[in-house]
Amino acid sequence: MKTLQSGLTNKILIVGPCSAESKEQLRQIASGLSKFNLNYFRAGIWKPRTMPSSFEGVGSIGLTWLKDIKKEYSLKVCCEVANPNHVEQCLNAGIDALWIGARTTTNPFSVQDIADSLKGEQIPIFVKNPLNPDLKLWIGAIERLQKAGIESVFAVHRGFSLTDNGIYRQTPLWQIPIELKRIFPEIKIISDSSHIAGKREFVASLSQTAMNLGLDGLMLEVHNQPDLAKTDSQQQLSLQEFENLMNNLNITNTDENYLPETIEVLRNKIDNIDKKIIELLGERMVVSNQIAQVKKRLNLSVLQVNRWSKLLSDRMAYSNKKQLSENFTKELFELIHKESVRIQDEIIKKRIKK
Ligand code: PEP
Ligand code: MN
Repeated sequence: MKTLQSGLTNKILIVGPCSAESKEQLRQIASGLSKFNLNYFRAGIWKPRTMPSSFEGVGSIGLTWLKDIKKEYSLKVCCEVANPNHVEQCLNAGIDALWIGARTTTNPFSVQDIADSLKGEQIPIFVKNPLNPDLKLWIGAIERLQKAGIESVFAVHRGFSLTDNGIYRQTPLWQIPIELKRIFPEIKIISDSSHIAGKREFVASLSQTAMNLGLDGLMLEVHNQPDLAKTDSQQQLSLQEFENLMNNLNITNTDENYLPETIEVLRNKIDNIDKKIIELLGERMVVSNQIAQVKKRLNLSVLQVNRWSKLLSDRMAYSNKKQLSENFTKELFELIHKESVRIQDEIIKKRIKK
């Protein structure tokens, strides 16, 4: 895997507008970005849109603009591909890297078609996560490209589309890129904070979270006139906002051999506490088992909804006193209760079988 040096030392930096709109627009943005030592200048020319009436990109003409930008500003350029025809056109135009969008990653047929069209080629390819929080689908797409012989395959975390995304356009679900890192530590993960955010005011803080988690770079949307952008106008940063973000971003050290002794001592404490938590959970499940035996004898249902409702609100209220967030406590006890119900259900089923 190539090491890429950027304006953020040891991080990968991909910046540019959501969409190429005109040659002049690309020039103004590239000119403003040229001092930042980007790895790639991004611009979409075929845009996957929810509604057919929306701006769907300038198409192939954008490739000639990108070719000129590459020469004029000594920038490497990268662009989204969704099918083999896009791949062929990009390769012919000398585009330096490709990315696969979230909607395309969702479809294994499309990813396989792209992988097949790349056989025998070497071009870095960035794979966005699928829209739905399905880690295997994301890994599958990465593997299809690796199997086609592509040596530089990167992952891009752009958040997930849930029914309720809270304040953001997409839900980050940071545990998913973290799990990808755990399973494949060698895969570099870039954070596309722009598409997670949906609003420019959240981009800097999400980018900082990505750095705090030790992710490997950023993909950011920047426009010369964000409010007039033809796509994603609310999330694109102005050149000045991008410069502020770069100046304020703190790059953390991910080297695990660098840990001072104080952390070792604290980690020992955490290990001991976790051991106690597991022992207590084991004890709790033994009691839950005993309750199941009683329910079985008396032919009572596993779920006693009033008891569950009271238990949950009591735990949430108590967690408040212990400075724990109610949401965390709710999720934790829902998980414990789910396991308890599963075990009790198994016991009751044995009764029915007899
Ligand atoms: C984009 O990068 O402009 C884009 C369309 O992103 P995504 O596929 O993540 O929605
Ligand atoms: Mn976009």
